[in-house]
Amino acid sequence: MKTFTWRYFLIAFLGASLLLGCSKHSINSLSTSNLNFSKGEIELIMATDTHSAMRVWKIDAISDSLLLRQKCSDVIFNSSDTVLSSFIKKLHKTVIDSVNQGVGIAAPQVGILKNIIWVQRFDKLNYPFEVYINPTITYYSEEKQPCREGCLSIPNRIDTTQIRSQLIEIKYLDKDGLSRNESVEGFTAVIFQHEIDHLNGILYIDHLD
Ligand SMILES: [Zn+2]
Repeated sequence: MKTFTWRYFLIAFLGASLLLGCSKHSINSLSTSNLNFSKGEIELIMATDTHSAMRVWKIDAISDSLLLRQKCSDVIFNSSDTVLSSFIKKLHKTVIDSVNQGVGIAAPQVGILKNIIWVQRFDKLNYPFEVYINPTITYYSEEKQPCREGCLSIPNRIDTTQIRSQLIEIKYLDKDGLSRNESVEGFTAVIFQHEIDHLNGILYIDHLD
């Protein structure tokens, strides 16, 4: 009877610990994800594996074009947010995908209304792609540069814009969540201006006469 009682308590205690462990884990993963993404966004992000590109949303489909015109919101950076880290990887896969071959991409272009972009740094050795979280432009030079622009969300078009600043200053969180400020110029500055426009629902064709 004594042995049975101790066994009973031991099993009950282990059972309770296991349950608490499970609940703690699910609540944590759910709450960190919920800080950043809606249920629909989580489903969209997790629908493909980490090695696959996501679908690029285009302005010639009505539902896509409505989303592309919306403003995005900031991300709450958390290195343990698995949905966030997964999304960042998939957005990168999408921009370098052979079908797209872009030089930059913004989260709303794959249906996610969050302030995240990838930019190819033509001003750095070997032209690396880098991710920028919550990027904003804090300074635009008066001097402008003409630039031929295309967009993954606007099929079969390239136009010359005249309104891009030659030099900008940007503020953002890097891939590790560290806050940074930087000056960027030339063509890379155009890519930043193009992608950050996307985060505000603005497309490059809005800048044409
Ligand atoms: Zn674009």
